[in-house]
Formats: sequence, C-alpha cells, structure tokens
Amino acid sequence: MAVYDYDLFVIGGGSGGVRAARMAAALGKRVGIAEEYRYGGTCVIRGCVPKKLYVYASQFPEHFADAAGYGWTVPQASFDWQTLVANKDREISRLEAIYRKNVQGVGGETFQSRAMLVDPHVVHLLGNDRTVTADQILIATGGRPAPHPALPGHEHCIFSNEALDLKELPKAIMIEGGGYIAVEFANIFHGLGVDTTLVYRGKEILSRFDMDLRRMLHETMEKKGIKILCHAVSEWVRKRPDGRLDAVVTGDKILTVDQVMLAIGRLPNTENMGLEGVGIEMTKTGAINVDQYSRTNIDNIWAIGDVTNRVQLTPVAIHEAMCFVETAFKGNPTAPDHDTIATAVFSQPEIGTVGLSEDEAIKRFSDVEIYRATFRPMRHTLSGRDEKMLIKLVVDGTSKRVLGVHILGPDAGEMAQLLGIPLKAGLTKDDFDRTMAVHPTAAEELVTMYKPTYRVKDGERV
Ligand SMILES: Cc1cc2nc3c(=O)[nH]c(=O)nc-3n(C[C@H](O)[C@H](O)[C@H](O)COP(=O)(O)OP(=O)(O)OC[C@H]3O[C@@H](n4cnc5c(N)ncnc54)[C@H](O)[C@@H]3O)c2cc1C
Repeated sequence: MAVYDYDLFVIGGGSGGVRAARMAAALGKRVGIAEEYRYGGTCVIRGCVPKKLYVYASQFPEHFADAAGYGWTVPQASFDWQTLVANKDREISRLEAIYRKNVQGVGGETFQSRAMLVDPHVVHLLGNDRTVTADQILIATGGRPAPHPALPGHEHCIFSNEALDLKELPKAIMIEGGGYIAVEFANIFHGLGVDTTLVYRGKEILSRFDMDLRRMLHETMEKKGIKILCHAVSEWVRKRPDGRLDAVVTGDKILTVDQVMLAIGRLPNTENMGLEGVGIEMTKTGAINVDQYSRTNIDNIWAIGDVTNRVQLTPVAIHEAMCFVETAFKGNPTAPDHDTIATAVFSQPEIGTVGLSEDEAIKRFSDVEIYRATFRPMRHTLSGRDEKMLIKLVVDGTSKRVLGVHILGPDAGEMAQLLGIPLKAGLTKDDFDRTMAVHPTAAEELVTMYKPTYRVKDGERV
C-alpha cells in the first residue's frame, strides 16, 4: 500500500475546510491544510462576521432616534469609520488565530500557502515550494465576487471585500445587485449616513424569498431613504475630474457617487488549481461536481462548501464537512441534508425565513393555507417609528404541516433559528396552536393566528 505524507490534505482554510481538518485530526488522522490568504475564510475575514459587526454599527442612529419616545435626550452623535474598521480588524484577527489554533490543537498541520493539485494524491504548495502527498484530498476553496468585465469602467468598481475596508466612508454609493449581500450592504451604508442607491435588474429584490417579505422590505427601505431602482442595470461607470464616479444606469440616469459596489453573484474558486489536469469534473460556471456524499468523479478527491455551489452558507459548508468526515473516515456514509435550511437577511428590518415561500408551496401542494399578520412591533409604539412587522405561516391545508415561516422585523434572524427546529421536525399548525404564547413579544403571533388569512386551492385564491 502506498505511504502518503497525510491521510487527508485540505485545500482552503475557511468554514468547511477548517471544520473537516479539525474533525479528521481529532480522530487521529494525519491532516495537513493549506490556506492562501487568512484562516477563517470568507465568513470570518470578509463575510458574515465583519458584515454583522457593520450591521450593528449601522443600527445605532435609529436607536438614538427611537430613544426620544422613551424619554431619553441623546446628544448629537458622531461616527468614526476608521475606528469601526480598526475594531473589526482586531476582532477578525482574534478569530483567525482561533481557527488556526483549533486545527493545530488536535495535531493538524497548517500551511500558509496557495495549493494546487499535481495528481490525485499530490499537492503542490506554491508558497512553500513544497510538494506533499495525501491519501484523501478535500477541496474547500470557496468563492469570490463575480467580476463584470463587460461593464465599461468596471475597473473603478469595488466588491464586498473592498467595501469592508474602505479608507474613507463614501458620501454616496451605488450598489448593483438584488441578492442578500447587496441588500445588506445597502442597509449598512445607509445606516452609516451614506446616500445609497440599489440598482437591480430584476423586478423585485431578493428573488429567492417570499414575495410578501420582498415587497415589504423594499417599501421599508425606501421609506428610510434608500433609493431602489429595479429593472435597471449599470451601463457604464466613469471617473470624473473631481475623483468621484458617474454611474449611468438604464434610462440614461446618471448617479454621481463616490463608490460603485458590484454584488452580482459569486464564482467558485477553481481556477489555476490544476483541477483540469487531474480530470475533475466541473459545471459550466466552474463549480466542482460532487455526488451526494461530496465526492468528485475522482475517487479520493472530495469537495465541500461554496466551491460546489450547492447552498452558499457557512452552516451548510460546516455540515458538509462533518458529513464528509463521517463518510471518509468513520465508515458511516452520510449525505448532507440540504432540506429546510433556516436563514436570515441582516437587512433593516431583518428577514428570518425557513421552508417554502407561498409561491413554492402553491406549486407543490393543491391546498395551501396562509396565516399572515402585519403589525407595528411594540417597541415602535413609543418610538413613533412608522415601521411594520410581518409574520407569515405557509401551511399544507391537507396535512396541516407547516411548510414555511417568513418574518420581517426586529430579531427575525434569531426567530428563524428556533423555527428551523419545528419545521425540520415536520410539526403541524395544530402543534403551533397548542403552544402557549410568550407575552408580550412579537413572536407570539406565530402561535396565535388561529384562522387562515386566505387559502389557495389548485392555484386559485379562495
Ligand atoms: C459579504 C458576505 C456575507 C456573507 N454573510 C453570510 C451570512 O450572514 N451567513 C452565512 O451563513 N453565510 C454568509 N456568507 C457566505 C459564507 O461566507 C460562505 O458560504 C462560507 O464562507 C463558505 O465556506 P467555504 O469553506 O466553502 O469557503 P470559504 O469560507 O470561502 O473558504 C475558502 C478558503 O479557501 C482559500 N483558498 C482558495 N483557493 C485556495 C488555494 N488554491 N489554496 C489555498 N487556499 C485557497 C480562500 O482564501 C478561503 O480562505 C457571506 C458571504 C459574503 C461574501
């Protein structure tokens, strides 16, 4: 039997790669992992974590304004972007060190290097000019923002990576895209006082979410002062003599801004890694094709996380890593379960959602009950803020199983996490009805909507 340097070599030290390396090393396997940039990957360094810290930062002006109704006089507040960036940097450096230590602490070997495949058992570490061999190889190289080379002036644009580390907070920004990253950054910049325009080619932002949430978030964002242009794309971006940018969007509308941020999708990191040479099958967009156990077409090479373009979320990459370790090292073939994933959009107000949207449910079920409540959350009674909350249940009228829950409002992300459990367990509307409310909360609406707002039978609203 061939003797390799490692039982497992992982390429990519992000959410999925680090978890797989740590779990396998903890089993006593000889594990090596290479990261070309910073341990922690997209989520820790330039995704979920810094973004959420910026969401918190951007919410303070509303808290200050809302405090007046509760009797507080808040002196004129001021904001320092450089302090926020520096504090964020300190926190992600702390997390980065923990990620690296977690692998080393269980005996894994970490490399600071870009890695390439040379053959199915050989990895070249470019940074160390070293070649290592491994029995099993896991590719967890994640993704990056999709560029827009066809856009004249694209070289003046930034992506989410740069937006987190701008030297100066812009006075005005145009963000192109309608996905959760575009929407979250639009809310962050607006909250920090930046004149913000969101430009999206589709008919409504957040295309994969329930239509009620999408419309109501759109309206609320506009009411706050965020400009949203749907059915529009940028046509060119030009640098002005004063250093600002003119962005021309559909209809010859010129937006003069300090930054243009493109958030038009993400591409898997599979280029220049020797994958073609080894014969790994990929999709047209460059994502690695895997079977239900995350195995590529080459027997000892596996891929997890964003690079496989299944569901691009941190907990999914981590779950796929754990399933991979079960399958490859514990003799317990385990396919990742991608069904009914609870998720949040950290917009303002927040979205929390799990399960089927109304439109998806109608396509799959002949009798769908919709329970829907819109109301002003209690905290906005004294604050006077004119902002509504939406809670919506989508229920199979025949079995009474709750198929989807969609929430727009404060703490919706936290609620979605808890709702993931009853939906995953397949609980019914009767189970929700039997549950005592917690009063006074916004979430009590989830268990106190006894009569459907409307039904959809065979596609017809009745
Ligand atoms: C702005 C933003 C906000 C997000 N917010 C959320 C959120 O709120 N919630 C959520 O669940 N998800 C969020 N995500 C998505 C989440 O970050 C990803 O789904 C997750 O990080 C995927 O993990 P991964 O292990 O597949 O890849 P990554 O975390 O991207 O890790 C891949 C690593 O591989 C390294 N690498 C690439 N090529 C090589 C190579 N050849 N050699 C060595 N190293 C290499 C990269 O440097 C990177 O560190 C967000 C993403 C972005 C961009």
